[in-house]
Amino acid sequence: MIDVKTAFLLWVIQAGTLAILLIAIWLHGRDQRHFLWFGLGFAAHATGLGLVGVRDRIPDFLSIHVANSVSLVAFACWAAAVAAIDRRRPPLVACVPVLIWVAGNLIPVVRETFALRVTTYNLAAAFGFALLAVLVTRARFSSRRYRLMLALVWAGQALSAISFGIFVIFYRPSSFQDNILGAWMGTIALVGFITAIVILAKMLMDRSEERLQALVRTDPLTGVLNRRGFTEAYQRLQDAAPSPALGLLIFDLDHFKQVNDDHGHQVGDQVLLEFSTLCRSLLPQRAAFGRTGGEEFAAVLAISEARDAALFAETVRLALAERAIITETRSLHVTTSIGIAVSPLARAGLDQLMSDADTALYASKSQGRNRTSVKAGPRIVTLPPARMDAVDEQADRQLAILKRITAVAASLDG
Ligand code: GH3
Ligand code: MG
Ligand code: MG
Repeated sequence: MIDVKTAFLLWVIQAGTLAILLIAIWLHGRDQRHFLWFGLGFAAHATGLGLVGVRDRIPDFLSIHVANSVSLVAFACWAAAVAAIDRRRPPLVACVPVLIWVAGNLIPVVRETFALRVTTYNLAAAFGFALLAVLVTRARFSSRRYRLMLALVWAGQALSAISFGIFVIFYRPSSFQDNILGAWMGTIALVGFITAIVILAKMLMDRSEERLQALVRTDPLTGVLNRRGFTEAYQRLQDAAPSPALGLLIFDLDHFKQVNDDHGHQVGDQVLLEFSTLCRSLLPQRAAFGRTGGEEFAAVLAISEARDAALFAETVRLALAERAIITETRSLHVTTSIGIAVSPLARAGLDQLMSDADTALYASKSQGRNRTSVKAGPRIVTLPPARMDAVDEQADRQLAILKRITAVAASLDG
């Protein structure tokens, strides 16, 4: 059996190494705050235990009061880390373990009795572990299964700290060497410590993987799905849609090259971003929307009939045409042409729909742009352009759009 001092030293080395590793990871990606908090927690833990470990060589005040306080600060850091993974603020209640220790030591008999100090420390640590268990149960990151496993490990550590604290009151050891259960409790603490780290590492790795996957599916400029993400979202919608049909809309901004030439690439980027935001705000919740090319976007929605898709397309088209895009130097107006293809759910292959919507889009472009066309069976129907004076109010606008769609509805459904 190794002696208590060596065990302390090994523990300090392990916690210290982890602290350095975690802080180094944080330095590489500073938005990942939880790595910093976990690192600081292990640094506090290592420092506190290190000071306890050199008990006879430094003043008691340092090796008892400062050491244990610093070691309990670790719980505040770890609680902050668990909160930071979900981008929440550090919980104030995480300071309670340190406060329990400080309050206990204000009582002279506790301050002067080794056994009572050990009990106070263990009660404080038990509170810290219990708090971590509660926090991780309420967290949102990783899977429920791993959160529960971690909560169980921490709850177990809380229980063992409480039992040890109570045992010490009856057994009354006078120093660490005198403690027959010390090694046994140390073993439990070590196993709990390592198990928690292994589970946490797995959870954080899963989370990084999820972030990476999300990145692979996202267009960096606009934050909407890229072509790959859109294709997958399309598949999901096809599998789960309650409606009988899917409508695919392709939007291609009109004369966009001219926008770049006249106002610069940066303004062009701003237009792309504003268009995505506008579409997202007008799209039904369950629809998928993505950027499928430079100035080309696509949306897919579950619909009952072609006019549902046409209504949405016209709403977006008019909203964009009327919107003034404010740049640093001036405001400009941009329009979009839209092509729509519709297919019954069971037969809706993405490639075919894209190709049909593209054909419809070409019709919108050739008929003067700023138009919506629908590929209905073998024919292509281009909606008559709106009369702007009739569309002041939102409700009137929807009605006006519907009227125009109804005028060509027979061709759409045919
Ligand atoms: P049309 O009305 O026929 O669609 O004309 P257009 O000018 O929009 O079409 P064209 O395909 O000739 O030009 C598309 C332009 O989109 C060319 C390219 O420079 C620009 N573009 C593509 N990706 C980006 C981007 O990420 N940012 C900016 N600012 N421009 C882009
Ligand atoms: Mg284009
Ligand atoms: Mg274009």
